[in-house]
Amino acid sequence: MAPQISDTVSDAFKAAVDFVLPLICVHCGDEGSLLCVACISNAPNVPRDACVKCAEPTREFLRMCGSCVALPPPLDRLITRFRYGGPVRDAVHALKYRGITAIAPAMAEEMSRNTFFTRTNIDCVVPVPMHRDRLNERGYNQAAILAQKLAESQDFPYIEDALTKVRSTVSQVELTKHERALSLRNAFEAKYDFGGAHVLLIDDVCTTGNTLMNCAATLKRAGARRVSAVVFAKEMLAEGPEIPAI
Ligand SMILES: [Zn+2]
Ligand SMILES: [Zn+2]
Repeated sequence: MAPQISDTVSDAFKAAVDFVLPLICVHCGDEGSLLCVACISNAPNVPRDACVKCAEPTREFLRMCGSCVALPPPLDRLITRFRYGGPVRDAVHALKYRGITAIAPAMAEEMSRNTFFTRTNIDCVVPVPMHRDRLNERGYNQAAILAQKLAESQDFPYIEDALTKVRSTVSQVELTKHERALSLRNAFEAKYDFGGAHVLLIDDVCTTGNTLMNCAATLKRAGARRVSAVVFAKEMLAEGPEIPAI
């Protein structure tokens, strides 16, 4: 019997998708998924004792690092799924620089593990924004893709345009610590009144923490009661977080 037209179309579509996007692990090349189970289980783990506010390693059993105790940051909580490196870095590069946005659901699923956030304690999910110029270059904001997937899977309200990056900034990596703190000050604007809300910020990678801290400060100025953040990966610093002057 001849196949139904819909089956034919569906098979042709699947074949086209397979041709365009073979499911090959971005790190080890194994077939079957874009980020395989073996690579996830071998990914660099977060420190066992990590500061609740900046995710940097703390001394054993301490909840907060010395820097966050001395100068409490505007971000109330930072949770990272992985430490940056190895397969985690390849996943981030695939999403950010290679245009493999199909990896986002797997990354967002990992980000939703082991967090205490639920529909009852989170009011909305907000991505770290990208400046319009950069967005035009790349065509998408990887943080927004992750945030949307995470919000969908956890049934959280999602507000994509909550924050705007109003000033284009140069790569943070090239700046000194002091220059970084200055470069992001007033770089973000909140579009809405977040009066009393607990906002969950999402980004792919946290390096110095400066971007998340400035986004959190902007949301607090717009009334947010609490700002937490979840990132896929964090580069660990030796010196503790950089807390911007606000
Ligand atoms: Zn793999
Ligand atoms: Zn800390």
